[in-house]
Amino acid sequence: MIDFVPSENDQKAFDQARASAMICRKYARHYDENEQEMAPEKLPEADEFYAEHPNPAPPGEGDSSMLTRMARISMINYWGDYTVRLIRESGGLGNAALEASGTPEQIAKWGKLCLSMAITEPGCGSDPSRVATTAVLDSETNEWIINGEKIFVTTGIRADAVVLWATLDKSAGRGGIKSFLIEKGTPGFNVPHKEKKLGIRADDTAAYVFTDCRIPRDNLLGGDEKVNLKNSGGFRGVMKTFNMTRPLTAAMGLGLAEAAIDFTRDQLEASEIEIDYMAGPGSQTAAAEKFIRLEALFDASKLTTMQACWLAGEGKPNNMESSVCKAHAGGAVRAVTQGCIEILGAMGISREHLLEKWTRDCRITDIYEGTGEIQRLIIARGLLDYTRADLK
Ligand SMILES: Cc1cc2nc3c(=O)[nH]c(=O)nc-3n(C[C@H](O)[C@H](O)[C@H](O)COP(=O)(O)OP(=O)(O)OC[C@H]3O[C@@H](n4cnc5c(N)ncnc54)[C@H](O)[C@@H]3O)c2cc1C
Repeated sequence: MIDFVPSENDQKAFDQARASAMICRKYARHYDENEQEMAPEKLPEADEFYAEHPNPAPPGEGDSSMLTRMARISMINYWGDYTVRLIRESGGLGNAALEASGTPEQIAKWGKLCLSMAITEPGCGSDPSRVATTAVLDSETNEWIINGEKIFVTTGIRADAVVLWATLDKSAGRGGIKSFLIEKGTPGFNVPHKEKKLGIRADDTAAYVFTDCRIPRDNLLGGDEKVNLKNSGGFRGVMKTFNMTRPLTAAMGLGLAEAAIDFTRDQLEASEIEIDYMAGPGSQTAAAEKFIRLEALFDASKLTTMQACWLAGEGKPNNMESSVCKAHAGGAVRAVTQGCIEILGAMGISREHLLEKWTRDCRITDIYEGTGEIQRLIIARGLLDYTRADLK
């Protein structure tokens, strides 16, 4: 039976996250308006906070799964602010990719670094088989020579190294694509700029350029390409990580939507507009009716996300469910934040409040980790038992 009731230990983790989110929210506007600044690794309040709120035990017997706990904590963190944290997590998206497709030796060597993940290029986004960055083996020096350009790399500036997708052979399509680990400071690896964005402005998103960048042959994830081609860091290994990260991405957007709902509820209450969940259609103010519909949309989206996490925690396949929750949340968070602005009018777009910021911040939910359209393709293929060739 699916059970989302938090255990006592889970609840301690959520309470701690909520208290920390309240502090982070104080910094939200500053880092939104000062996009060039990087939010600090540690806020001034951090030490005192952790002395008062010690970390709860990691999930164990009777607690929710690690992914479920992470999703719920992400939701709370993003309710506070998108990018500011009391103390930053040390890992990036590339750490999940290393876990999924690195050898035990590679995981031991690089697992403690903060790793970004670079797939997207100016000519390649939704269809990663179009990766044009090349990796050519120099068999005399036993090095890969990397050439190409990557854009919109999350944690691209803070990361110590990147998990990079490059092709060994463009004519081989997906089969030719492998992932490589490249450390910052390697000659030929440049970070030309931090991207400027509509929302999540304090988030660290960077562009990378590789020019005759030489890395050791052993930096191919999954092992040496010649002796272990099938297992080496190719498409499938890294795609597996999306089943875990898509529910987390949905949860982040939902945290912003929840912040918008809580703010709107407070404003309706302050204006003495009653919200009556038992009243039938047309029996209360249009604002209250609209608010209830937005809350229902939010709840539906949260449940699809919890289901995708729960399946993973049970060790069951969640490929389709992780796309369902990501596609649903991508649309729901936009509808919720826009709906809250419609209810509140001018207050909704004033920079005096954070609602307009949450509306900008949540737009990304439907873009990265695969757009809504791409999630719908994955869902349709799953439902109809179609292959990529049947439906693209
Ligand atoms: C803030 C931010 C952070 C990011 N972080 C990372 C990161 O860390 N690493 C990384 O590699 N990338 C990252 N990305 C890139 C992101 O994954 C891509 O933007 C996304 O995959 C979409 O690719 P694209 O922008 O090239 O759009 P395109 O692929 O050019 O798509 C344009 C439009 O066409 C639609 N479309 C495309 N193909 C189809 C189809 N077959 N059927 C129907 N519609 C279709 C899309 O849904 C979209 O609406 C990030 C992006 C942003 C904005």
